[in-house]
Amino acid sequence: MAIYDQRHECMNREELLQLQLERLQATVNRCYKNVPFYRRRLDDLGIEPEGLQSLDDLRALPFTTKEDLRASYPYDLVAVPLREVVRFHLSSGTTGAPTVIAYTANDLQHWTNLVARNLAAGEITREDVVQIFFGYGLFSGGFGLHQGAEAIGASVLPVSEAELPQQVKIMQDFRSTALIGMPSYALSIAETMERMDVEPNSLSLRVGLFGAEPWSEERRAEIEQRLYIRAYDIYGLSEMGGPGVAGECPERCGLHLAEDHYLIEVLDPDSGAPVPAGQEGELVFTTLSKEALPLLRYRSGDLASVDPSPCPCGRTTARMSRISRRTDDMVIIHGMNIFPADVAQVLAAFPEVSPHFQLVVERPGALDELNVRVELAGLPSDIGEKVLRLRDDIAARLRAELGVDLRIILLEPRSLSGQGGKYPRAVDTRNR
Ligand SMILES: [Zn+2]
Repeated sequence: MAIYDQRHECMNREELLQLQLERLQATVNRCYKNVPFYRRRLDDLGIEPEGLQSLDDLRALPFTTKEDLRASYPYDLVAVPLREVVRFHLSSGTTGAPTVIAYTANDLQHWTNLVARNLAAGEITREDVVQIFFGYGLFSGGFGLHQGAEAIGASVLPVSEAELPQQVKIMQDFRSTALIGMPSYALSIAETMERMDVEPNSLSLRVGLFGAEPWSEERRAEIEQRLYIRAYDIYGLSEMGGPGVAGECPERCGLHLAEDHYLIEVLDPDSGAPVPAGQEGELVFTTLSKEALPLLRYRSGDLASVDPSPCPCGRTTARMSRISRRTDDMVIIHGMNIFPADVAQVLAAFPEVSPHFQLVVERPGALDELNVRVELAGLPSDIGEKVLRLRDDIAARLRAELGVDLRIILLEPRSLSGQGGKYPRAVDTRNR
């Protein structure tokens, strides 16, 4: 199976660590020189960029958080003059300021090559007709995969988020061999095919790359069975430029991380200390090649483990596990990031409900559904009519604020808070 960038994906570990150190030093220098935010932080900690002599020194550097990114909207973290920026993307954040990612021409080139690595690892070649149903727009997914697929030399159909029957028709007419998008959307396509009486084995589909939302091995099996393809997991995050951060190889025993472009730490989310090798912790990323928007020790909020042992495929880069959950209980539904804090803000405007609520994501049929279980502050005197109206009002406000469809389930007073307040803020049954 083809390895897209043999030189970097199969690097001797020693050589890789040396490359990482050199790139880290350049990145810290760039941050210090060009980004007042980082200069202030490093000055406050008494850190001089020249003092950084080993990869272990990374641990003295300050973290960067989602809040830092939001507070710097739109340009404050950009490390180059605007004339050198050739592209922006925004995160799919719902309320509050979105986070911005900027790219120079070199950043775009690196990004394209990293995504191409994932595609090649996922068995996609120039012979493939690739149908992409990630959104094309401010969200980085569509453009990122598109560039990578073109770099591979595949024939690309940027179908984006077209109507489902149109996806199926294009699949038939163009004899698409590869699908790229969100796993839940792939299942919606499968569902639509069944409704349209289209047999998957009458199509030319062969392989699929899926990501941008959590999915499980069970879901992989379901996608493979219903679409007659082999399904691969890919991982990225908009703060690191989008897709291309990690992807599965044919061994499918973890996702190979692009360690020559990202320095990855696995930390205890509470203490910030490194967890023992192989154990689960929060993934923390430092960019190593980014010019427009370098980030130091970005707290991703994604929990996973990392295995540095060699892979039978020949790649020497470490492999991350699937994301098990998030530190902030953010849930991803239909490509949108929903933060409990944003939900709490909307609920605070309703005196009839308590601050206790729970996000529950399920997939009962073709589509993912978001249920918000909200605890009433007290039992209203007129239960029927009034409660129904309250439920509808909350649902309407949340839909407008978050931009996703959802259902409100009102709970009796103390049904969440009564258990000593110990309940998960988010339950994602799609992972099970
Ligand atoms: Zn491998």
